Amino acid sequence: MPMIAFSTIKGGVGKTTLCVHVASALADSGHRVLLMDLDPQAHASMVLGLEPAEAPCVADTFGPRPRHKLDDVVVASPKRPNLFIARAQPRMAAMERELFQWGHRLQAIPRALKTLSWTPDVIIADTPPNLGAYTEAVLHFADVVVAPVPTGAFALQGLGEIETAWRDTREEGGQLVAVVNLWDRRTTATNDAMDAALKESTVPVLRARIPRSEAINQAGLGYEVVFDTSPSAPGVEELRELAKELARRAGLR
Ligand code: ADP
Ligand code: MG
Repeated sequence: MPMIAFSTIKGGVGKTTLCVHVASALADSGHRVLLMDLDPQAHASMVLGLEPAEAPCVADTFGPRPRHKLDDVVVASPKRPNLFIARAQPRMAAMERELFQWGHRLQAIPRALKTLSWTPDVIIADTPPNLGAYTEAVLHFADVVVAPVPTGAFALQGLGEIETAWRDTREEGGQLVAVVNLWDRRTTATNDAMDAALKESTVPVLRARIPRSEAINQAGLGYEVVFDTSPSAPGVEELRELAKELARRAGLR
């Protein structure tokens, strides 16, 4: 049961967008996917069809005396079969401070998974744009950590920090990879500078590059995935390719 996580300390670079699309694509290809939403903003939970509501959340399964089993938290996405969600809640921001006091916090995810009565084929995690307790727990456990880098002059800002944190936090093994998002093939000077910088970086870059796509942006604004709103729009093919590439890296069959 590999875990693929989307993480970098920069916000607005596409963590949540890539996360929900990879989760949806893998569910569409028949894998039983558990999405763990570890960002208190809960955008991934909402995009996959959960309304804001008082309900147990993923962080209720963490800590020395967890309030809930993961079985009590996980719900099926109303939007597609094979996709299950351990939702986030805004109150997770305050709960994170308590988690910091807990000596086993790096083990939060595997401990929570022991309270799930079935085994997903793959776990996909979204994280907040910081190096708090949720992100640390993810970096420690994830088999593949994906850091989106937005095309532009500041593309690699934040990649160094996540790399250092990942090296300090991870268990044995595991991979950290970058994926280019918001790609615009016309900005050649910027692209050349970005390619040169990525070549210098010790973080491998995935083959799939996700273009800046108005359809992806519009889908996000409506809390939808582009596969459902504009299935042949620019970017759709690349998102599905990204999911396949990550599945291979994670050893998912
Ligand atoms: P993060 O989770 O890193 O903060 P988001 O996934 O929320 O970033 O993306 C930030 C904004 O950029 C959102 O409005 C989202 O819809 C938009 N966005 C992300 N990726 C793309 C893309 N490839 N094309 C167009 N808009 C995108
Ligand atoms: Mg996000």
